[in-house]
Amino acid sequence: PIEYVAMKEYYLKMLDFVPQLREIAEKVEWHPPSAKYLWLNWINSLTMDWPISRRRYYGTEIPIWYCKKCGAPNLPEPGKYYKPWMEQPPFNKCAKCGGSDGFIGETRTFDTWVDSSISPLFISLYPGNVKESNESFFKKLSSRPYLCDLRPQGKDIVGTWLNYTMLRILQILDKPAFKHVWISGHVVDKDGRKMSKSLGNIVYPEPVVAKYGADAVRLYASMIASLGDDVRFDESKVAGVARFLQKLWNIARFISNFPEPTEVFSLTETDKWILSELNKLIRKVDESYSSFDFHPGTVALYNFTWNVFASHYVEMVKARAYNRNGTFSESEQKAAHWTLHFCLKTILKLLAPVTPFITDAIWRQLYSRESIHKEKFPEADPSMILEEDYTPLILETNSVLWKVKKNAGLSLKVPLKTVILPKKLEAFAMDLREMHNIEELQFSDEPKGNGFEEFQADGKRILVAVN
Ligand SMILES: [Zn+2]
Repeated sequence: PIEYVAMKEYYLKMLDFVPQLREIAEKVEWHPPSAKYLWLNWINSLTMDWPISRRRYYGTEIPIWYCKKCGAPNLPEPGKYYKPWMEQPPFNKCAKCGGSDGFIGETRTFDTWVDSSISPLFISLYPGNVKESNESFFKKLSSRPYLCDLRPQGKDIVGTWLNYTMLRILQILDKPAFKHVWISGHVVDKDGRKMSKSLGNIVYPEPVVAKYGADAVRLYASMIASLGDDVRFDESKVAGVARFLQKLWNIARFISNFPEPTEVFSLTETDKWILSELNKLIRKVDESYSSFDFHPGTVALYNFTWNVFASHYVEMVKARAYNRNGTFSESEQKAAHWTLHFCLKTILKLLAPVTPFITDAIWRQLYSRESIHKEKFPEADPSMILEEDYTPLILETNSVLWKVKKNAGLSLKVPLKTVILPKKLEAFAMDLREMHNIEELQFSDEPKGNGFEEFQADGKRILVAVN
């Protein structure tokens, strides 16, 4: 049988502060926004103040001595750490009764969150910490509406670490502890179960990092779930991300075949199309990183780099970049070189915060002796974003023409006799003709003729005569 014994303990007032904590919840910027309700639900469910004394041996000592004569608790001046259970107090007389019969030191310790709830004071050099005078600390603080910029933490300790920190800083400084609160989910196993020793499903990060590299693990963690959601760890997906980084390396090696022009040449429509997509990407990644949610940005980077830039643009301009037959003018060739390098440099800079090692290695090999991490983050240029969206049509048209050859058992180098594409693609004619080795390329929105196979790309008709 278990018997409950009521004991006297120290409490910190919390219920009285709930209305002010609710106001703080509205002032803070939450990432994701739904995280606000994790905390609000918690403070709305509180039914008692915070018990802060513990009957545990290990912990932060409570600096109190009790007067032997009257029993009153006596506290030392702030500024020094005391162990009352083994040390004499730094005073001789009781502050209450003036008695000098001696003192009994407190043997209890604090709840662990009593220390961790003032971590923002510690990092912001609250008086008592070195390096800054009290005067300059409070002057700095008076000019801003919160103590620290950011609290990144897991969702499981919203009711403790976050809650007690907000409470303590409110009580001490009368302001929110943070401007932003950034709440992440948990890494669970691939079936969604919490990792635990008893289930034997714990994945230790070190071997995964050793096998795939820290960059792959970081990019995987960014891509695999939206901010605040749990991450189901699946090693095969880390392997997939590692293959992407291998692909990035190969793209860089290919582009390094061509000199980077020092000036912008007159760009072709194909170049303008990929630069338009690139600028949309910059905007998306910037928004994503700025909101502390790396998921949409890194997924967009992955898709652009592999599924649009490498699979389509690079393939479309290969012939122009090499220009082995002199089909293209020098200006057209250099426009391809410039665009390839500009896209690669931008991709590297956008990826650098998430995959700092591989991007820096490529950057230093190709572009500079200085680190990529000294570069400015790219800014989107709205004037480079085209009104027309060519991407679905280009991607699906290329896929159709590749599939035609594959289905006929032909190598991709084998020529196609006649292809009739939608008029919208006419501006890309030269690159498309060279890429797919088309002998006769026509454009029509109402294509007709005998001996053609018909396909669809982005809802438009395409006719192909293989031979
Ligand atoms: Zn006393």
